[in-house]
Amino acid sequence: MSHKILPKIRFDEMNLNPAVFSILQNVGYETPTPIQSMTIPHLIEGKDMIGQARTGTGKTAAFALPLLSRIDLGNKRPQVLVLTPTRELAIQVADSFKTYGAKMKGLNVLPVYGGQSYGVQLNQLRKGVHVVVGTPGRLMDHMRKKTISFADLFCVIIDEADEMLHMGFIDDVEWILKRTPDDSQTALFSATMPRPIRKIAQKYLTDPQEVIVKPDNTEQKNIHQQYWIVKGAKKTHALVRILEAVSFDGVIVFAKTKTSTVDIAKILENKGFKAEALNGDIAQNARERTINRLKNGYIDILVATDVAARGLDVDRISHVINFDMPSKVEPYIHRIGRTGRAGRTGEAILFAGRNERWMLRLIENKTKQKIREINLPSNKDINQKRVADFKESITKALFSEDLNVFQSLVEEYVKDQKIPVVKVAAALAKLAHGDTPFFLPAQRELSCQKNISSKKQKQIQIKKPSRIKENNLIPLEKGMERYRIELGRHHGVRAGNIVGAIANEAGLESKYIQNIAVNQKFSLVDLPYGMPEKVFALLKKTWIKSHQMEISKCA
Ligand code: AMP
Repeated sequence: MSHKILPKIRFDEMNLNPAVFSILQNVGYETPTPIQSMTIPHLIEGKDMIGQARTGTGKTAAFALPLLSRIDLGNKRPQVLVLTPTRELAIQVADSFKTYGAKMKGLNVLPVYGGQSYGVQLNQLRKGVHVVVGTPGRLMDHMRKKTISFADLFCVIIDEADEMLHMGFIDDVEWILKRTPDDSQTALFSATMPRPIRKIAQKYLTDPQEVIVKPDNTEQKNIHQQYWIVKGAKKTHALVRILEAVSFDGVIVFAKTKTSTVDIAKILENKGFKAEALNGDIAQNARERTINRLKNGYIDILVATDVAARGLDVDRISHVINFDMPSKVEPYIHRIGRTGRAGRTGEAILFAGRNERWMLRLIENKTKQKIREINLPSNKDINQKRVADFKESITKALFSEDLNVFQSLVEEYVKDQKIPVVKVAAALAKLAHGDTPFFLPAQRELSCQKNISSKKQKQIQIKKPSRIKENNLIPLEKGMERYRIELGRHHGVRAGNIVGAIANEAGLESKYIQNIAVNQKFSLVDLPYGMPEKVFALLKKTWIKSHQMEISKCA
């Protein structure tokens, strides 16, 4: 295998077909990315090659631009085949080919993947297709049924070869390679080069040129990595706090299981975020619609499993949140590669359990970057962000077109009612905001978080029974939620009163009423997750020592 360092060349020096070259201006590519300047000259000359680069480096254009330049539009049989590990990537790569080939009249690009009806694919194949982008399984089906012919292929691209290996497709890739023309050009792209991939390269590539784009001097520099050690607060609570405090454009939250993607998305939706789940149980066309909604800004947050989000290319992803720790470093690298795309910067936040710290070290070694520990945003941080967002939304609305109608209505109202304009504006803001309090209470920050400073919030020492802890460094247990009651020592309330009131009114066995901490003016108590609305309403009206309990869930 030969390594050749090519001088940095410009797009206009690459012998690209004029129709392809002229599209670069439309898509806004001025200079080639490193992988493009190293790859395009080889691919345009028909040489075999190995490209070691991750997604996000401009890899797709690196092979799509030169191959499109060599397509004979008069020949309606597939000339280029791109193998991808996932359907999502197949669709994205096919879309890129369509974009770059938009000025090539009659160009037909077909994504071929499982889950899509055969009818659509057969129809297109019959009409004639120049580029096929597909996942191995469905391609093999077509090849066995002879509904696809690769006799005229001049190039086969294996994209994300290491992912093919991880997903168990590598034998299928070999099966396909064996059945493509011997003299066709072959190029293999992979973020890493494990031995089985090298073996494939040795077997099927002829004197390949090898280009490497080192991860540590390119795309990962623009991804800022942080972690939060999971302690005290529930992870969903932490997620909501973080999303409330940071300025994000698009977010992908990675969760371990399909069900948790749905649960987390629901929680976020209930909190007012535009979020949807993306996992393998969701039908293919629904998944495509979800990705499009994210691209178009109808939703801002995707809660996804690794498999469903692999290869996802959405420029507006500003944050990747690793809600669950991946089992290996490689998937983590893929996850964070969904942000910091197209020359932008990105933020990656990782939730790490106390016994998962070892994984942090592995990630730091691999990415050659320090991952900084963060604390959960305080109520003050969140309140500041709410104020900033509120002001920004006013500024935005001030420039909207239909403001005049409302301006005259407000003028009329002010004149009729003789009320200052500021008051009217405040009333309108309240109307728009709804009934939930605008600010998180400053005090609550201390009271609802763990590790409460003992000086400021001196707790009553609770002697008995054993279910009640003696100090207030109380981690919230799994399956429990923390509540705040607006009654404390000042009201003559003791822990026993709280247990009694809740046990009687909610019909809850006292062993489920935990970690009661009585403060001067308020108390905290942990109760099982998911209290029914009816019970909650009942508790709100419950009396202790002649005072109404006023119970609320800690944010
Ligand atoms: P990829 O590695 O193919 O997933 O591409 C990552 C992102 O970079 C995509 O959003 C491309 O549109 C963008 N991109 C690719 N090549 C260039 C270029 N030469 N200049 C600017 N952006 C590019």
